Amino acid sequence: MAAFQITYNDWKPKEQKLREALCTLGNGFIGTRGAAEENSNNDFNYPGTYIAGGYNRAKTEISGRKIENEDLVNFPNWLCLSFRPEGGEWLNLEEVEILDYKQVLNMKKGTLERIFKIKDPEGRITSIHSRRLVSMKDLHLAGIQWHFTPQNWSGNIEIRTALDGTVINDNVARYRELEGQHLDPLKTEVINENSMLLLVQTKQSKITMAQAARTQIYYRQKVVKSDISTQQKEGYIEQVFHFSAKEGKKYVVEKIVAIYTSRDKAITEPSIEACKDIKRAGRFKKMLFRQKEAYRFLWHRSDIGIIGNKKIQQLARLHIFHSLQTISPNTMSLDVGVPARGLHGEAYRGHIFWDELYIYPFLNLRFPEITRSLLMYRYYRLDEARNAAKQEGYKGAMFPWQSGSNGREESQILHLNPKSGNWIPDNTHLQRHVNSAIAYNIWNYYVASDDKLFLSYFGAEMFLSIALFWASKATYNKDRDRYEIHGVVGPDEYHTSYPNSNEQGLKNNAYTNIMAAWVLQKALEILELIEKSRKRELLRVLAIDDPEFSLWQDISKKMYVPFIKDGIINQFEGYELLQEFPWKDYQEKYDDIQRLDRILEKEKDSPNNYKASKQADVLMLFYLFTQGELKNILENLGYEFKEEMISKNIEYYSDRTSHGSTLSRLVFSWIQSKYDKEKSWKNFETLIISDFEDIQGGTTPEGIHLGAMAGSLDLIQRNFAGLSVCDDALWINPRVPESVKKISMRINYRKHWIYVSVDHEKIKISFEEGWSNEVNIGVLDEIYKFKIGEVREFSLVPQS
Ligand code: BGC
Repeated sequence: MAAFQITYNDWKPKEQKLREALCTLGNGFIGTRGAAEENSNNDFNYPGTYIAGGYNRAKTEISGRKIENEDLVNFPNWLCLSFRPEGGEWLNLEEVEILDYKQVLNMKKGTLERIFKIKDPEGRITSIHSRRLVSMKDLHLAGIQWHFTPQNWSGNIEIRTALDGTVINDNVARYRELEGQHLDPLKTEVINENSMLLLVQTKQSKITMAQAARTQIYYRQKVVKSDISTQQKEGYIEQVFHFSAKEGKKYVVEKIVAIYTSRDKAITEPSIEACKDIKRAGRFKKMLFRQKEAYRFLWHRSDIGIIGNKKIQQLARLHIFHSLQTISPNTMSLDVGVPARGLHGEAYRGHIFWDELYIYPFLNLRFPEITRSLLMYRYYRLDEARNAAKQEGYKGAMFPWQSGSNGREESQILHLNPKSGNWIPDNTHLQRHVNSAIAYNIWNYYVASDDKLFLSYFGAEMFLSIALFWASKATYNKDRDRYEIHGVVGPDEYHTSYPNSNEQGLKNNAYTNIMAAWVLQKALEILELIEKSRKRELLRVLAIDDPEFSLWQDISKKMYVPFIKDGIINQFEGYELLQEFPWKDYQEKYDDIQRLDRILEKEKDSPNNYKASKQADVLMLFYLFTQGELKNILENLGYEFKEEMISKNIEYYSDRTSHGSTLSRLVFSWIQSKYDKEKSWKNFETLIISDFEDIQGGTTPEGIHLGAMAGSLDLIQRNFAGLSVCDDALWINPRVPESVKKISMRINYRKHWIYVSVDHEKIKISFEEGWSNEVNIGVLDEIYKFKIGEVREFSLVPQS
């Protein structure tokens, strides 16, 4: 059971914001940080509530420029619940003696509990057991229940419950100079003596949110008679229950909240729906029952069992849990993508990057329906991407590096270096490789799910539009007889231009070029796969004619890839001329050099001058493609590929990477797994604790890193359990690490549920149920046909 729990046994104000992020409860629609319900925003408490897709734009003047940012809005705080004895102070853990404190995230049930006993300056001892949930089953509902016991006193007390819409976006210190007021108060209303309503609206995007709350106090199942007073001000409403509490008696306080927005489906108007729901919701116990049911199904589909390593087991579950808080079956009804930092904080303003690339492999084999709906987020923004391409003189569709509400580019124009206090121009939007990531995701969703309808209709249209973009972005260099791509930034965001150059971007980032060549090759293949009528339609609608085909074929044979020497791929053209970075000196000088860019900017230098990368760039190729696939791509381009290239490139770039992104460890762990087990495991260990221990020193309190979290799960399935999908089969070639005894999981491969467990000696496969009676499963080197209900074991011990 402990592996399904995260328990903190003390109150540590300094760590509270990290714990809040890690104790966030969500349901794929709402996310609410695990903040204390009795406090508002202060040094150790930040009660953020976010809604998937709940963005607002605001303008700020910075360094004489008016800039506009789009933020995931911090919506009203529905948690507010506090008490005070007559004549005493409102509960504040910082002002009382804490006799006991425990905070438990129960991942099995989807609840957060706080169990504490306090003594106030007057010697009154009170114990509170607080439980809360954000309903997975009823996506608009959330609730808190308190068991409240005056241990050594009796007297009049007040319980205060509120809905607070006076909040602003204030989670990220670096953004504080930017406009953080996103809400306009619309209405507060007492619905009846124990229920109230708050209505707010985002200033620019005009999303209306209604929150309704019903609070009730019980003693032994009977409602406690209380005097109720109400206070209202703009954007804030509270109800205070006054009653006489008796020593040693346990009172139950319940606050049931319903949250609706004007973006929701199947509604008339948010406040009507919210008021209706709190009436129908019943008591907390009923909500808890429904919550357990919903989680039972979720865990059945998504759990990964790890025997022999409790820490990894617990963290893997934490990562599954937070992936599901951000994206769950509820997400399917919404028009939203995957925010890189979850619904857990305000870093990166809730934007959507290329991180999907690391997140979908976990979803594809468990919740392919969710991947499909997230891919649709991109499809609905195809026109915006077409317009972006057109504006820059390209064909097809150019998706933005950072995406939010309507799919326009949301990357910031200036960013603040917290180390120097300087606002610096930001060119990272030139990461056009995000387009190839979208194409790669479409293809891999199709391979895992066999969803031909999606591929034919939505997938192909997006894929071909991206191919059109790459073909028009590539320029022909006569001297080389090769195609080139200029003015881009690769995954390594440290290099955004050449030393002392005013021009933005780089030439021929190898990763970008190879991915573009892959897109063009695959686009031709997809056209042969989809329905004939759809093919005709798409060729017509997208104006893909014979000369365009010839161009795609030509580029996919002649894209330029820069090399340094001996098969080492050059990160971009000119990278080889940059200075070596004095890693040792900087490691001695600074405690932490993960964010080298900030250190160098403060020193009036720049990583653009050095062979120093933030994260895997060239090495991404070995992460995304098998050896065979990469060999095909490179040989098709007329370059030689030898296996030893992989380890040479890994070695070269590991010496030159600062791992300034949590994604980097993920890539390194995977690519090293074949060549250096020890380093691979070390990187995996760093990856899996990266949020739990906040290894970047302060970034997790601003939101979890969903790419790293879901990516670590992909590593467990792909690397340790050895699962892959190719040649119309699910393959299992386990490499269970020494520090783990056994790994088990349930996989949804092309609508077949397959349970797999692997240890050091055997593989056990059971084909539980599916849409057809037979499925191909490859074990080691051979494909077997499994019949429904069949269970087989395979020995991994060489037979003598
Ligand atoms: C990384 C990007 C990533 C973004 C959001 C950045 O620090 O460099 O690759 O997409 O974070 O997670």
